[in-house]
Amino acid sequence: MNINQLYVSDWLGKYSTKEFEEMFTYEADDLGMRLNGEDIVLKCWSPFATQILLNIYLSGEESSTCVEQIQMVCGEKGIWQTTLDVSGYLNKYYDFTIIFENISKNETVRVTACDPYARAVGVNGKKAMFIDLKETNPDGWDADRNPNQSMAWNDMIIYELHTRDLSADLKSGIKNRGKFLGLIENETYIADGKEKVKTGLDHIKDLGITHLHLLPFYDYGSVDESRPYDENKYNWGYDPVNYNVPEGSYSTNPYDGDVRIRELKQTIYQLHQNGISVVMDVVYNHTYNEEFCFNKMVPGYFYRIGDDGVLSNGSECGNDTAAERSMVRKYIVDSVLYWAGEYHIDGFRFDLLGLLDTETMQEIRKGLDNIRPNILIYGEGWKLHTVLTKKNVILATQEHVSEMDRVAMFSDNLRDAIKGSVFKKEDKGYISGNQNYTDEIKTSLMGLPDWASNPEQVINYTSCHDNYTLFDKIALCNKQIEMEERIRQNKLAIAIVMLSQGIPLLHAGEELLRTKMDRQGEFVADSVREGDDVNSIKWEVLLQPEYQDVYRYYKGLIAFRKNTRALHMTDPEEIKKAYVFAETGNELVICFKIVQKDETIIVVLNGDGKPAEINLNDVFDKGKSADDMFKGKNYRCYINGQSADCNPVSETVYDRNDCTVKVQAQSCMVLKNL
Ligand code: CA
Repeated sequence: MNINQLYVSDWLGKYSTKEFEEMFTYEADDLGMRLNGEDIVLKCWSPFATQILLNIYLSGEESSTCVEQIQMVCGEKGIWQTTLDVSGYLNKYYDFTIIFENISKNETVRVTACDPYARAVGVNGKKAMFIDLKETNPDGWDADRNPNQSMAWNDMIIYELHTRDLSADLKSGIKNRGKFLGLIENETYIADGKEKVKTGLDHIKDLGITHLHLLPFYDYGSVDESRPYDENKYNWGYDPVNYNVPEGSYSTNPYDGDVRIRELKQTIYQLHQNGISVVMDVVYNHTYNEEFCFNKMVPGYFYRIGDDGVLSNGSECGNDTAAERSMVRKYIVDSVLYWAGEYHIDGFRFDLLGLLDTETMQEIRKGLDNIRPNILIYGEGWKLHTVLTKKNVILATQEHVSEMDRVAMFSDNLRDAIKGSVFKKEDKGYISGNQNYTDEIKTSLMGLPDWASNPEQVINYTSCHDNYTLFDKIALCNKQIEMEERIRQNKLAIAIVMLSQGIPLLHAGEELLRTKMDRQGEFVADSVREGDDVNSIKWEVLLQPEYQDVYRYYKGLIAFRKNTRALHMTDPEEIKKAYVFAETGNELVICFKIVQKDETIIVVLNGDGKPAEINLNDVFDKGKSADDMFKGKNYRCYINGQSADCNPVSETVYDRNDCTVKVQAQSCMVLKNL
């Protein structure tokens, strides 16, 4: 019996009605299990069940035998509950058997489901576990704080990483390969004779990032946790199964429900100790499949289904979450707040945010602000086709970003303008000499792509886990060029990101020219199901001087950005006043200055394949007072094609007498007043 058919025949069209919501919306924050003195109180929501049995197991494996069945009792609002004693049930496992009677068809349907509010689970997330979460806290946890708690959003440097990629490479020197604990090993390195370079945590600390954005690490379905590390499949993890539990394959023991929780908390604690905040990638827009436990307990409730009975599929993952329904919205909000509270998560990145709605995001914002100030929220505000189940729902897309309080979105404007469209393999971007993108680069430099009303709504990036890596994309749309030129373009790309107003995000490994190539020597666009050989960060390359040079360039750009207040503006009117773009006579040569209080920086970006020479007096002040810019001011170069730093990178001083800059092909030059 397909439970969705049961729903479609009898209940379709009622879940989103006011009547249904008034009768069945449950507001208290106590679904799932709670410890209350010597009691475990367990509650679940299932308004159409006629009976719910709680099954108890001694272990969390799928095959384990039920040792006891307990009748749950139905109360108001479709809530079922039971109370158990801690001494008899703590650390045991459980699931539910839900019985539905469909009277019109004279059928009884029994389904088994895990607890949607499970806080701990056994292997592969089949069964929930009764747990005392306090017992999972590492020493010092109560005093644990976000090390960047009061940091302005546009002061952050985000690094987007898959947990497994940092340590999967056998040469990483990291012991806990592919695990949460592999993220926090200190003093790991790779060496070759005299050369010795840092890997893992020390590497990302040295780079200067402030926020580590980890790809999904809630419990997902695509990796079999019961297989040994080297045999289990690799997946990005955008296939949620248990939203409120960490993924088991990242723990050293996925069978014991509390190990993954302990190890994740330990990891977050150590990252905080190392000055790094943690951003969680969350995927509330769809689930692994329609067997999702919440949907089993209230058949068909969790998803958007059209009048034709077909699941809406804007996510291209088979189903779209009906976030506009009261109990789905509650579920999402409860989940986010739980992670922020229990795991001290400092920021959330919402996958396909454009499928959720602004009201849900506002509730999340409000809830997070009540837990701690300044928790970061950003997401993919892409506009996708989805079948809403209510009228007047506003989707959380880029065009509605200003209808939400403090939510940022990825800027595909800047991403594509820099390197060319991600949807057209051979489309060239500005860095490869495409002047059609020049205007978009200019507005993005000011942090004001057409949908944003201020730069703190904008995540600037040129690559992330999706699509080709930056270095591979450059190679694909410039087939004839040599390594040296590809590196120049790559450096220009990241310089544009770091020089833009807004919040910069780096794809892990971009700083060592990350490439994803399969065994046939083909670049891989979406490496979601490839193995470690394609996905892992290959530390060995850092032993080569040209890779070290790129790494230092990234590091230098980050240091420069952190030290330059003019790159951290928030007020769009002030920005428009502070930016002066010069006419250079070449669409591919963008020259501008930012005058911000005592600080002036002059930037020349050269997307052209030949060098540019610019007399700054001529381009900025011709016909006006030539003194304006240089009166009492000398400038030094902090960034050029070779180097970037928070200190000047050359001895040359630029003043009113000597203000001609020479900018290499496909590179940039940044001057700052002394
Ligand atoms: Ca899993």
